[in-house]
Amino acid sequence: MTQASPRYETRVHDVLVIGAGGAGLRAAIEAAAAGSSVGLVGKSLLGKAHTVMAEGGVAAALANVAEDDSWQTHFRDTMVGGKMLNNWRMAQLHAQEAPDRVRELERWGAVFDRTRDGRILQRPFGGHTYPRLAHVGDRTGLEMIRTLQDRTVQSGVTVYMECTTTHLLTDDDRVTGAFGYWRQTGDPIAFSAKAVILATGGIGRSWQVTSNSWEYSGDGHALAYRAGAELIDMEFVQFHPTGMVWPPGVRGLLVTEAVRGEGGILRNRDEDRFMWKYLPDDRRHEYAETDEEASRWVEALREGRATDARQPPELSTRDNVSRAIYTEVREGRGSAHGGVFLDISYLPADLVRRKLPSMYDQFKELAAVDITAGPMEVGPTCHYMMGGVRVNADTAASTRVGLYAAGEVAGGMHGANRLGGNSLSDLLVFGRRAGAAAAAFAAEAPPVGDVDQEQLRRAEEELAAPFDRPGGEDPYRLHADLQAVMQSLVGIFRTGSDLEVALERLAGLRARWAQVRVVGSPAYNPGWNLYFELQNMLVCSEAVARSALQRTESRGAHARLDHPGLDPEWGKRNSTVSLDGEAMRVIAKPLPELPDELRRLITT
Ligand SMILES: Cc1cc2nc3c(=O)[nH]c(=O)nc-3n(C[C@H](O)[C@H](O)[C@H](O)COP(=O)(O)OP(=O)(O)OC[C@H]3O[C@@H](n4cnc5c(N)ncnc54)[C@H](O)[C@@H]3O)c2cc1C
Repeated sequence: MTQASPRYETRVHDVLVIGAGGAGLRAAIEAAAAGSSVGLVGKSLLGKAHTVMAEGGVAAALANVAEDDSWQTHFRDTMVGGKMLNNWRMAQLHAQEAPDRVRELERWGAVFDRTRDGRILQRPFGGHTYPRLAHVGDRTGLEMIRTLQDRTVQSGVTVYMECTTTHLLTDDDRVTGAFGYWRQTGDPIAFSAKAVILATGGIGRSWQVTSNSWEYSGDGHALAYRAGAELIDMEFVQFHPTGMVWPPGVRGLLVTEAVRGEGGILRNRDEDRFMWKYLPDDRRHEYAETDEEASRWVEALREGRATDARQPPELSTRDNVSRAIYTEVREGRGSAHGGVFLDISYLPADLVRRKLPSMYDQFKELAAVDITAGPMEVGPTCHYMMGGVRVNADTAASTRVGLYAAGEVAGGMHGANRLGGNSLSDLLVFGRRAGAAAAAFAAEAPPVGDVDQEQLRRAEEELAAPFDRPGGEDPYRLHADLQAVMQSLVGIFRTGSDLEVALERLAGLRARWAQVRVVGSPAYNPGWNLYFELQNMLVCSEAVARSALQRTESRGAHARLDHPGLDPEWGKRNSTVSLDGEAMRVIAKPLPELPDELRRLITT
């Protein structure tokens, strides 16, 4: 519905979903099914959201390949992988509901790879006890987006493509809509909505080496923070162990964990299979003891039969493998281009091409390497944000009334480290829950009233500011400087002194941001788009650095060289971030108590 407004194009919906990736699409479908009028906004074209890049698969205890699998084991793996910092209720709902969400996708038209008897095939991934990832070769995200997008369009959802949201609109006690602009023209647009769902993805563009696309500037995290919602677990940024390291133009591009899931072996320049020495003592019993046992496991996987062999050491959790690779390189045992070698070429070439078609093409076309004939060079790349908007597990409601969050922008589900495949299932489970809860809230909530013209005027003024400056900062240079700070001082390994220096430099970058100048008109202006995104990257970067400084221990993806061990006291607390006047407030809050019946699943 379009509402006449003195100055701004204004659209009115019961539920506004910001973000058209997996989480946003799933939320929109559910809210529309509940009878809400739904608007879905994305800053790229429909079908181009980050989810489309997902490769390895979606984790769900379907028990198609390993009949002993169950939601209980998936729950345990997720909690153990997250170093027990997860919101237990989210992890429970996720493990219980993921199988239904995957079967539902199949009913809606997704065509997964098959077992010999025609069921959805599942592959192994790091930290999962059983082969659990439903997949479509190494192009799972493409199939998911295609399916969800069709369903969304059939559901009568109104889609706003290439439309960037820059501000949430609020009144005293709730969120009432959003403001943004059309990227094509730069023209402003306002949305009035009884409920708003954030589904904007992650923050990885703040690091130099990243697998994340241009969309990952942490917009949703920053929008929620500025609207008064709380963020949690912001210190936990996942560095995926395997990104491309060469040639420089593609550094960071993901090499899916499916390569290791299918049997890929990691070696250093001396040909040592180094992962043997990095397995954590308390989990060593879950992995093979010898090359021979690991080979038997890969062979059994290939032939689709059960085995008593245990999984190869390369399938340790991502945080551990990343630190191992980083350490090998730092200690001088890396490859010529600063990585290590990942080899799958010992398997039959036709199998590699069939199981990993995108990886085959990616290396052939971008690096002139044939992965069926020799190893790939790989190294860690910034990949996923465990931290995000603090939500209620059952409803995905944030701490601000009328505001919901699902997918990568939401925090809590993965604790200190995410297991591969758990993001695609997370966004299905909590996308659906957010859509249902937002629709229910909108059905009961009083109307939001006229859009506050004063808030819109201020928002537009803020966006216009960099055009009016006679001289000033180049947004691209500022972005490069931010990435250098985060890469060198807030990376895989951290120290208190580095983090303090990072915070000082971030303060300097914020001051420079206020002087950014852009030229030209607002129509399709990438420098201007970056101006707004930089503000969000700066908020997220500060939240990561402050939370990391506060957590004086090493846990999951957060490794402090000056505090190398786990601290049981920190194991009882989440870091929370909120806006306090003009300042960022970071405080530790107690984790919700894990019920005994769930604790028993983990300890037995
Ligand atoms: C290369 C790669 C491979 C991966 N493979 C896997 C895998 O195999 N399994 C797995 O579980 N996970 C995988 N992941 C992680 C997973 O893909 C993501 O975590 C997940 O897709 C995020 O989905 P989302 O719906 O939360 O966000 P996205 O799919 O990123 O969607 C975000 C949406 O928000 C929109 N948006 C952002 N900001 C704004 C704004 N200001 N205004 C309007 N719209 C906005 C974007 O345009 C986009 O539509 C992978 C990640 C990468 C990078």
